[in-house]
Formats: sequence, C-alpha cells, structure tokens
Amino acid sequence: MTERPEGPPRPYLNFVPDYVKDSIGKWVTHKMQEGGIIEHIDSRGKKVYTVKAASTPNGRYSTITMRQITALARKYAGATMRFTQGLNMEFIVGSLEKAKALKQELKELGFPVGGWKEHLWSLTSCAGYFHCALAATDAPSVIQNIANSLSRYFDEEELPAKLTIAGSGCPSSCGGSFLTDISINGIHTEIPVITENVKNCDLQGTAFTCPVGAIQLKTLPDGGKTIEIRESLCIGCGLCVGACGGIIFQTPEKTDGHAISIGGKASASRYGTTLGRIVVPFIPNEPPHYEKTIRVVETIVETWKKDAKKGERIADWVDRIGWEKFFEKSGLPFYPQSMDYLDIRGITTLRDGSGR
Ligand code: SF4
Ligand code: SF4
Repeated sequence: MTERPEGPPRPYLNFVPDYVKDSIGKWVTHKMQEGGIIEHIDSRGKKVYTVKAASTPNGRYSTITMRQITALARKYAGATMRFTQGLNMEFIVGSLEKAKALKQELKELGFPVGGWKEHLWSLTSCAGYFHCALAATDAPSVIQNIANSLSRYFDEEELPAKLTIAGSGCPSSCGGSFLTDISINGIHTEIPVITENVKNCDLQGTAFTCPVGAIQLKTLPDGGKTIEIRESLCIGCGLCVGACGGIIFQTPEKTDGHAISIGGKASASRYGTTLGRIVVPFIPNEPPHYEKTIRVVETIVETWKKDAKKGERIADWVDRIGWEKFFEKSGLPFYPQSMDYLDIRGITTLRDGSGR
C-alpha cells in the first residue's frame, strides 16, 4: 500500500508567520483599527493585524493575479495568507504601518478591503456550469454582477448589520446559499423527460437519486424495466439528469433561471440558524448582466437598509416586521402561494404559472 502524503497544512505551524507563533494560545482581545484591518492583542501586549480583502465569487483566478497576491503575502505577511470560507483573502501582518500599506496595494490591484462589522461580508457561489451537469443558472456570473453592483457596501457604505450573499447553480445548494442573507438558486422549471437511452442507466440507482421519491421503477409489457417520473412530485432539481444520460431537460435555454431567497444565516445569534425563504420564485437567465436579478437584490438591500434597526440582519428584520410588511415595503410582487411554500420545494407549486 502506498503511503499517503502528509498534505498541507500539516503541521500547521509551517504555514503561520514567525511573528505569530509565540502568541498562539495567548490572545486576549481584538479591535477594529479601520475598515478591513483588525488588531489582535496577546497577553503580553504584542499586536498583529489581519487585513481582509474581497475575492472573486468562486475563487477563480488567473495565475498572473495569483502571483500578484502571493507577492504581497511575501512582502507583508511572512509569505502566508489564507482564503476564508467566504472566499475572502486574509493576511496576518506584523505592524499597523505594514497593514495600511498592504491595504493600499490590494486596493490598487482592484480588491476592496473591508468586509467586517456592518458591511457586506461575502459573495460566494458554486462552480455552476464550469463542472456541474446540474446547473440551471451561471451562479458565478450572477454573483459577480451583484458584486459589481454592491461592492461599495464591502468597504465604504454601512448597512444595518452583516450581509452575506451566495449563489447556487441549482436547488442542491452546494454553494451553501440557503444559509446566507440573500441567495440566488438556479431552478429548472421543466420536468425532465425520459428518453430511450435510459436503458443504459442504473435504473434503481437513478431512482434513489431523487430527493422527493418522484421516480418510479416500471415493468414493461415485454418484461423489461424502465422508470417514470411522477410530475406532481418532481421539484426539477436535476439530480436524475446528472445521474443518467437518458434523462434530459428538453429546453433549458427557455425554462432555466433562478429564484431569490432571503433571511438565511448560519449564525447562532438571536433565534439561531435559519434557512432562506423564497421571495422571488423565478427570474429567467438573462446573461451577461442579469439586470432584473440585480434590480431585485438592490431593492431588497435598500429596503432593509432603510427600515431595519442597527444590528438586525435580514432574517431578524423580517421576523420583526412580518412577511406581509416585507412585500409591502419592498414593492416586490407577492404570489398567493408564497407564504405556504417559501422553501425551495415550493417551486413545484410556484412554477405552475403564477410564479413567473
Ligand atoms: S449547487 Fe447545483 S449547480 Fe452548483 S455545484 Fe452544486 S449541484 Fe452543481
Ligand atoms: S428532477 Fe429531481 S425531483 Fe425531478 S425526478 Fe429528477 S431527481 Fe426527482
């Protein structure tokens, strides 16, 4: 048996700047110095600084940009850095003077520096079409367009509270989007169809991929086996399409798009973790700039900014004012089914006409 390599970051101390090592386990406090710079203080009064900059929504870079970023890590941060779960860049720097200089260089490279306190913290997405057969929308492009529109909230303008935004190419939500304040979720609005190529698939395995039990095994008159989709149950997630080449969406270019949900958060604050709920059931894909989607997201952010109390994340704000008031204040159209079907499985009902 081949020995498994001991991959990074083990031992993790090899990946921490020397000037941080003797403070490990001794941290006592931290405070914001200025936008995008946090000061950490250990029990002996020693200080180091974390500088945080926005990244691309799906962490995709050219090698040229990666070299520019690593050159900054070498110059200012002991040749180390990390990408956070929200795909932001973080550098730990030994002095405030260096932190400010790094901030300036990151801004000159085009990366906003900030993203803490009452600001936009993160914009993330799954890889979408790049390597996933299930995508119904180009999640990285949608999120990049939202980033272009809202980037001032990362480093300049304040919001009532933390704001996170994420996109997932389909309802599987690998992008973790239902746990963010505003999420974009790709949806297929047509029911997939079974073609004759289904005979080449593992039928039972394909049926098991369906999260709602919409696929039934059937016996043909000649004794052969096939499967059938119960349309009334199908939520159009596309998992069976990914599992079996004999199941297809017929007109995805006309019927794919995305829903917008709000009010998700992973935090344990107030009443705890919540999943986002759908407020806009369907917007067709309109690349490259997705103007309708951007307008809806801007409307949600501006309404929340105007109406929320300081410290209220979107979930907390809606909890206080109620869903009826949310639709009234934002001016977003309300669909009669919405209150009963505000999670992604409600798309089955919403796509039947009135949600579009
Ligand atoms: S959320 Fe959907 S499209 Fe995105 S990676 Fe996951 S399965 Fe693929
Ligand atoms: S699209 Fe999803 S819900 Fe519909 S049959 Fe396929 S796996 Fe089931």
